[in-house]
Amino acid sequence: AKESGRNQLQFYEAAMHSRIAERTMIEAELRHALARDQLRLHYQPKVDLRTGAVVGMEALLRWQHPTLGMVSPARFIGVAEETGLIVEIGRWVTRTACFQNMAWQQAGLTPLRVAVNVSARQFRDPGLRREVQAALSDSGLDPRYLELELTESLVMHNVDGAVAVVKELKRMGIALSIDDFGTGYSSLAYLKLFPVDYLKIDQSFVREMLTEPKVAAIVRSVIALGQSLGFKVIAEGVETEAQLAYLRRHQCDDMQGYLFSKPLPADGFGELLRSERGL
Ligand code: C2E
Ligand code: CA
Ligand code: CA
Ligand code: CA
Repeated sequence: AKESGRNQLQFYEAAMHSRIAERTMIEAELRHALARDQLRLHYQPKVDLRTGAVVGMEALLRWQHPTLGMVSPARFIGVAEETGLIVEIGRWVTRTACFQNMAWQQAGLTPLRVAVNVSARQFRDPGLRREVQAALSDSGLDPRYLELELTESLVMHNVDGAVAVVKELKRMGIALSIDDFGTGYSSLAYLKLFPVDYLKIDQSFVREMLTEPKVAAIVRSVIALGQSLGFKVIAEGVETEAQLAYLRRHQCDDMQGYLFSKPLPADGFGELLRSERGL
């Protein structure tokens, strides 16, 4: 038993060292990712469940590294956040999304809203509003075609401060949504203070709602609650026809998920819009 305890300890140490090594490497490489043009945005459609039409898209960051390959956001967003690199990367994301969206509009495609994820560090950055404003005016994009996704845990962390920032952003004319809804702690009393447009039901609920009756009850409640507070409700991570049918039956507004489309590179997304594939 003693022997296996030691082996296990060595195993943990080795695992920890490789985690630290990976982190250090990612941190070092991420510092150059922007300058070396290794970052891209992919776009995933958001679809109106009633009409089946694409009504918007979420921009998702992709990092193509020459030797590490495609590094997923799960591996580098946290590092970017801790090192503060997310502020610069986030600025690039917002600008790129605005310019790309403007390019699609200028190419004659139906104007749609592009959503950008905002991390905690960016949200607390006093320059956020100015940078969003600059991205809009430099690209020429109408503010109503930009949406910021703020996670529930982010806005519920310091409610007074967050409400003030959300109100400022809202005054700029952009759309706002609360992402990963249901995974954090939300007080209904606080929720009504946020002038947001959308609640995004987290994909963990969508994944379990057809097998766990209690999860289904949560999903139905979030749809009803969100709509009664004046929000639109979108479900993310929709992968099956059965999930789609359930969400439709319970009058969820919009959906996003692999069933309709994975996140696509900009040219692929443009193709999808041109072909106007409906649900
Ligand atoms: P998120 O904002 O909750 O984004 C949704 C994630 O679910 C994305 O993962 C998306 O590719 C994935 N997804 C979409 N449909 C499905 C589906 O049907 N099934 C499953 N299993 N997954 C689906 P991704 O692109 O790996 O991003 C992970 C997270 O990284 C995002 O979660 C977001 O928190 C963060 N992230 C991505 N891009 C950015 C960014 O530009 N800025 C910031 N701050 N965070 C970002
Ligand atoms: Ca999101
Ligand atoms: Ca989400
Ligand atoms: Ca998430």
